[in-house]
Amino acid sequence: MRRPVFAANWKMNNGPSAARAFAAAFAARWTPRDDRTVIFFPPALSVSDVVHALGNRGGLAIGVQNIWTEDKGAFTGENSAPMAKDAGARYVLVGHSERRHVFGETDAETALKCAASVRSGLTPILCVGELLSQREAGETNNVVLKQLRAGLASQSANIVSSMAIAYEPVWAIGTGKTATPQDAAAVHVVIRGALREVAGASAEEIPILYGGSVNGANASALLAAPGVDGLLVGGASLDVESWLTICAG
Ligand code: PEP
Repeated sequence: MRRPVFAANWKMNNGPSAARAFAAAFAARWTPRDDRTVIFFPPALSVSDVVHALGNRGGLAIGVQNIWTEDKGAFTGENSAPMAKDAGARYVLVGHSERRHVFGETDAETALKCAASVRSGLTPILCVGELLSQREAGETNNVVLKQLRAGLASQSANIVSSMAIAYEPVWAIGTGKTATPQDAAAVHVVIRGALREVAGASAEEIPILYGGSVNGANASALLAAPGVDGLLVGGASLDVESWLTICAG
């Protein structure tokens, strides 16, 4: 049985002091529980602060929002998977829509970043999702499958079964427009089918998260949709109360 995953993508918000304060406020109110995983994705500069502020509470984990494809070297401004691991991260967001559409990240790069994460013992959460124009053109499944297959290319079935996927329609991210639970469920079925092709029966272990304008009011309905195993949350994870509400759902 897959444990629900609640992932907070802080994007470029919460520098070290704010991140420490947030994590301390969250930890003070959070009752450790082993029936779900809560993951914080702070900006890289704040990862160590969140790691220390959260301490060793069961079910809470830290990830990074991005890594570079190489482990070290002349890549000014980048962070690598071994560095993220050293700082206390266990997860990596790969191919978030802002990486793809603001920074021009390619499918080939997402494959290399998944590989780099796995090489360092980090769990990649591969993000896939269609633009509004692609949805309107009936291309949603094709776009999502292309991104998924490209990102997983060259990973063994064993590795794929230890990863996580996030379906995030680009038109729903940060816009206040949410996919309906039915829309989300329909794409999750397609993703699960493709995962079975790669990982066989172990595909059932892979959590598939939904993301896109999730908030305290719509989180429960989205999480209850068939095949939705967790939520990746941007804006609503920046407020302690609303994040606690979502994670308790
Ligand atoms: C995200 O950043 O992955 C996201 C889903 O953002 P928001 O919840 O703000 O739409």
